[in-house]
Amino acid sequence: MIKRFFKYLFLGIGGLLAFLFIILFTPGIWHHWITYPGYEKEVQALATLRKAPTRQIKLNTYRGVMHVHSYLSHDSRGTLDDLIPAAKKDGIDFIFLTDHPHGDIDTLPKGYRGFHDGVLIEPGTEKQGFCTWPLGPAIINWNSNKDSIAKKIVSNGGMVLYAHTEEPHNWINPDYQGMEIYNFHTDTKDQSPIPILLDVLVNGSKYRHWALRQFFNPQTPILAHWDSLNNKRKIVGFSAIDAHENQNLRARYLSDGRIQWVGNNAHNIDTMKVTFWNKWLFSAPDKSGWVFKLLVDTYETGFNYVTNYVMADSLSTSSLSKNMKLGHLFIAFKSLGDAKGFQFYGSNNKDSIMGIVGDSIKIDQVKNLTAFSPLPGLFKLIHNGKTVSTSSEKAYEFTFSNTIEKGTYRIEMDLNLQGKLIPWIYTNPIYIY
Ligand SMILES: [Zn+2]
Repeated sequence: MIKRFFKYLFLGIGGLLAFLFIILFTPGIWHHWITYPGYEKEVQALATLRKAPTRQIKLNTYRGVMHVHSYLSHDSRGTLDDLIPAAKKDGIDFIFLTDHPHGDIDTLPKGYRGFHDGVLIEPGTEKQGFCTWPLGPAIINWNSNKDSIAKKIVSNGGMVLYAHTEEPHNWINPDYQGMEIYNFHTDTKDQSPIPILLDVLVNGSKYRHWALRQFFNPQTPILAHWDSLNNKRKIVGFSAIDAHENQNLRARYLSDGRIQWVGNNAHNIDTMKVTFWNKWLFSAPDKSGWVFKLLVDTYETGFNYVTNYVMADSLSTSSLSKNMKLGHLFIAFKSLGDAKGFQFYGSNNKDSIMGIVGDSIKIDQVKNLTAFSPLPGLFKLIHNGKTVSTSSEKAYEFTFSNTIEKGTYRIEMDLNLQGKLIPWIYTNPIYIY
């Protein structure tokens, strides 16, 4: 009797575990064999359609990531050995770091800066909804009034952007120069991360970028808010990857030979002795000393996820920051396709370019608004927040020569992937006055 009871109990528990395993991991396994190889094929096919548009504008285009954390932040362990190989692999020219300060007094520059293997790093800071790069020596007292912090940094030549724009900010502050129009962390907040984390675990490094893409939702309210702000004054739109490389389970040796486990948000979770029983878990240390890695978010995936394309004279902090403040940039979801070569400008009746994204053009000086893309897709021209013209779904070029009115004109471009239009590029506006 008891024997039979235990037999059914074990069968029941076993069945339940098998059932749970199927429920939890089937979507990831399905994606691994069917969905993601399909996406990969489409993206590769799309890449073969690349046509480098003739360069119309004088400035060069540099790819970069903003809002990135390194070991200086309490919630990251990232070092140059993690940041630079990721940037090189993804074709990233610059990284604008935003390390959280320890305490209320922030002294800049801090941490990494300058060129590392050709990648330009500029140190900045993130606190209380600000991402800021003073671009020179600065001491910020985060205890003081935020509006006066912004005023001081901006009047000394620095940059202040509003981060996490789903949260409250003093939108009428006259000094901040820009805002995040896409932040990966913001985008993760509107759905449960559990199914996606399970998916990442199943799909690992091969399809991590597709698994994390499942977080993507168009940030419609943020974009609408940005449009309304831009009708009052120029607020430059940026993308933020908010990368920490910290949603991971990793282990490394302590100096006394024990193992330190580091969990999500780079928290220390436990230490243990290496024994006969657990030795098999650990491999030779990588450059950062990790002997065990179960990775969910990596710099490499992040830097390719959403990228800022800045048009500037040279790859230098001064030229990049000058052109960022002018709004000479657009953002693109680079894992879908590299947007280098994309251009959007306004020209006069003699076909001379009178302004590019971020510029203001007098209404009697503009006849056409023109955009070129290296990949075919759907161009949408948005005037003061409303779509006023679209191209076909597979266009490389778009010209708007209807009556141009005052206000802001920006382009959103979608790619057609597996029969669906997927947002790819968001430009800053051209301001017609
Ligand atoms: Zn952050």
